[in-house]
Amino acid sequence: MALSRSIRRRLPGRDSIRRHLPSRDSLRRRLPGRDAMRRRGPVKLLALATAAATAGAIAAGPASVPRPGDHPLGPGAAGIGDPYFPGLGNGGFDVRHYDLDVRYAPDSGRLDGRATLTARATRGLTSFHLDLQQLKVGSVEVNGLPAAFTQEGPELKIHPMLPVPKGHAFTTTVAYGGTPRPLSGPIVFGSKYGWMRTRDGAFVACEPNAASTWFPSSDHPSDKATFDIRIRAPKGLTAVSNGRLLATHDRGATTVAHWRETRPMAPYLATATIGKFDVKKGRTPGGIPIYVATDPALATGQLDFYGLTAEATDHWSQVFGPYPFEETGAIVDDMPEAGFSLETQTKPVYSAVRDESTVVHEVAHQWFGNSVSVERWKDVWLNEGFATYAEWLWDEYKGRKSTHRSFLEAYNLRKPQDPFWKIDLADPQRDTMLSRAVYFRGAMTLQMLRERIGDKAFFRLLPKWTKLHRHGNVRTAQFIGLAEAVSGKDLGALFGTWLSSRDRPALPPER
Ligand SMILES: [Zn+2]
Repeated sequence: MALSRSIRRRLPGRDSIRRHLPSRDSLRRRLPGRDAMRRRGPVKLLALATAAATAGAIAAGPASVPRPGDHPLGPGAAGIGDPYFPGLGNGGFDVRHYDLDVRYAPDSGRLDGRATLTARATRGLTSFHLDLQQLKVGSVEVNGLPAAFTQEGPELKIHPMLPVPKGHAFTTTVAYGGTPRPLSGPIVFGSKYGWMRTRDGAFVACEPNAASTWFPSSDHPSDKATFDIRIRAPKGLTAVSNGRLLATHDRGATTVAHWRETRPMAPYLATATIGKFDVKKGRTPGGIPIYVATDPALATGQLDFYGLTAEATDHWSQVFGPYPFEETGAIVDDMPEAGFSLETQTKPVYSAVRDESTVVHEVAHQWFGNSVSVERWKDVWLNEGFATYAEWLWDEYKGRKSTHRSFLEAYNLRKPQDPFWKIDLADPQRDTMLSRAVYFRGAMTLQMLRERIGDKAFFRLLPKWTKLHRHGNVRTAQFIGLAEAVSGKDLGALFGTWLSSRDRPALPPER
């Protein structure tokens, strides 16, 4: 995600916003612990286990009949355990695939959808949750059988007719509809985000917690899945999503676009941006398919999104390792109210932000954030610090400015008393998880690492990191461990200082 220049100017105090969040420990105490979910009600459980055994026998034959006690049954947790967002994601299952079919009426803003999730139970489930907010559910089926459900705030709780045994794959189909509204609050620089109406359609950018405003999901980066996304919009409009366009056809007054993302994707990186677009397709000089959609209402000639996206994709493939997805691209929309751009998978969405740095930043996120994703939001500097460092690398590659010079400028801009230095990148807190420190102090940390271990080790480390954790999830400690392994140096003090010290770190002696 990148902040627009105009918002950068408008919001000088981002870093000094006081946090009113409970401490991590108190959040932890309030979270339903995974262990606590193992409790079994004695009598009811036996009945459920019997039901499950019967269900298992019907569904999959006697070989998979769970024996009572082997696979305890119970409700899935309402959240995946992220201290910043206790309700995001869900416990008890792992989503493998989303099949989304959404119809959007730009005139009224109404969305009607049908989502089928294929998931694997990681425990025996008598009930489970999905994340869905603002929209009303009409019906739910689990494995083709009608299921009872309740909606409470952003949680959809589903009670399948038959419990789902541990280890089993199951499908959940939700029919739903309503008028999606964007979220707001301090997290995304004070901007609105999510499903945002535009003059000719919708601009959809959901980091970190707005995927559930347009489809039922397990809305957390640690539960990635593949996606089929069908978008139905009035004929004449173009609907752009992630992965590759499989087919598009008109049916009466409606155009249906079918997109498929075959690589794992976090729900917040899904988009269904709709509007009038000029589309340019082809391949980058390096051979990667590229799809760029540009709103014709925008002034032309400012920035060559197609050429720049192609060049950045090819260049980062040299520096960071092979491009992790099937297609690259961009969606350039006229949405000034979105004060940011977002690295939606394979095709970042750009709104008010249209400059070269932003493009190379969002393309770099395809490696850092989208393929290599955080396991908990508190490690988000692994996304933003790296994408910001990519902007510095780009300037160096173009011969404009060394990364050392960019580092010094960023460092000198923040005086020792600046609250910028009070943000601990190992735990930046929810409302300030996208503060400037996460971007620029993160990038500074990488420059200090590079100067400590040398270019050779540093440029071995980056592709090794993206290869080891391709399509996976990571924590900061894993990056430090890999940097130490690659360089053979003890880097605990360097990372401790540059990520977490509450005072502006001293500059290392010039070499
Ligand atoms: Zn970013």
